[in-house]
Amino acid sequence: MTDLSDINLKKLLDNAKIGVVIHNIDTSVVYANPAALQLLNLTYEQIIGKDAMDPQWHFVDEYGQVLPTESYPVSRVVHAHETLNQEILGVVFHHDKDINWFLVDAYIEGFGTSGFVVVTFTDITDKKTQFSFQDVVENAQDIIIITEADLLTSPLGPKIVYVNKAFETLTGYTETEVIGDTPRILQGNFTDADSLKRISKALQAKQPVRETLLNYGKNGRPYWLDINIIPLKNRLGKVTHFAAIERDVTEQKFHAEQLEKSNKDLKMLKDNLLKMVEQQTAELKNTNFKLQRLAYYDFLTGLPNRRSFMDNMQKQLSAAKRSGELLLMGVIDLDNFKAVNDQYGHDIGDNVIKLAADSIRAVFRQEDCFGRLGGEEFSFSLKIEQSADAEQICQRLLDSIAAQKHQISEHESVSVTASIGITVLKPHKNTTVSDLYSQADQALYDAKAQQKNCFKQYIQADD
Ligand code: GH3
Ligand code: MG
Ligand code: MG
Repeated sequence: MTDLSDINLKKLLDNAKIGVVIHNIDTSVVYANPAALQLLNLTYEQIIGKDAMDPQWHFVDEYGQVLPTESYPVSRVVHAHETLNQEILGVVFHHDKDINWFLVDAYIEGFGTSGFVVVTFTDITDKKTQFSFQDVVENAQDIIIITEADLLTSPLGPKIVYVNKAFETLTGYTETEVIGDTPRILQGNFTDADSLKRISKALQAKQPVRETLLNYGKNGRPYWLDINIIPLKNRLGKVTHFAAIERDVTEQKFHAEQLEKSNKDLKMLKDNLLKMVEQQTAELKNTNFKLQRLAYYDFLTGLPNRRSFMDNMQKQLSAAKRSGELLLMGVIDLDNFKAVNDQYGHDIGDNVIKLAADSIRAVFRQEDCFGRLGGEEFSFSLKIEQSADAEQICQRLLDSIAAQKHQISEHESVSVTASIGITVLKPHKNTTVSDLYSQADQALYDAKAQQKNCFKQYIQADD
């Protein structure tokens, strides 16, 4: 066995990195090595000869509570005959106030009054901060799960190594039930496969990832989680674990879905309203169209009514005045129509009027004016090239009307004839519609006074 008796122990202590303070049994300090002076930030003079109870410092326990002097490490060794083994202690120097944390060992060396108390310590201030990050994680409202970074593709991996209290509360699983198991136990039928694929891909690439995912509690209750997974590296920079920070967003998701549904309902309502408005607009247009027809067209025959005819004729008269063209204007009255009504009734009378209207329409062109003035009276006006055209048109009208037959039964039909009064002129600037009408009417009177079923022309004074 190697003999260590030659080793210079004083030199060894002077060079050790661990703090060593040696007290007499009366607790006064007899030795402090350089590491101790450096760790305690004291000079040799500040410590040598001072006893443990010196007012330059006091001790606190690992929770920061001030220790009574009888609980100081040296007192415990000397008076209670204890040995301190890796105890966490804080020292507060009165020139500084900060707590310096040490891991302390202390024991008695030798016997009786010639013994010493040896205290050794290392600084753990960096490690022992006054608050614990673990406490923060443990008590966070968000769920925190830490898994290992391997076995990512195995059905049993990755293994859970830590869950916080919020995890237990939300899922119903206890820490002991899930440690060593895989987060896959939280997934279920409706967990989105695409989201899982995205997570798996990111984890394999050791990348952070964020997803909203449906998970299931121990009792099968589904809940939505906003999941944020971050890779954790060890001191060598290797990703060894993943931390998943997860927030229950079931309620927000529900509200978002409700909102989406209300928006859809509103859109449907709006669409329906629009449809209704469109429908009503179309109906209104249709009604307007019908009203216009009623205003300008005769209900029984579909020919322009008196008002419309007069308007059109006014335009034609003005045009003829400008162009100096020859204008033919006429009035048609069915002959002995009262007798038709009397013999066959008003309805058949109406049909005969309709047939006469069709015969008149067939004679004219689109640009000519014609219409029903009322009862069985019609009127027309058009530009002609010569007087002889007027006679031709009148004859065609008489023939066309007379040719119509209203079949009453197999052997019986009703036909009517008409009388026509016309005026033909190149209107001068003072000629009015009413002048033309009264001239044609006078001529009609002549036609009726003779044998009817004929036309007569008004003789112009200056002709
Ligand atoms: P005239 O040859 O002299 O014209 O004899 P008329 O019987 O045709 O006599 P008039 O023109 O004076 O009378 C027209 C008759 O037409 C009077 C009325 O009974 C009938 N009548 C007028 N409007 C309508 C109608 O809308 N429908 C039917 N069915 N008959 C009508
Ligand atoms: Mg009449
Ligand atoms: Mg008549």
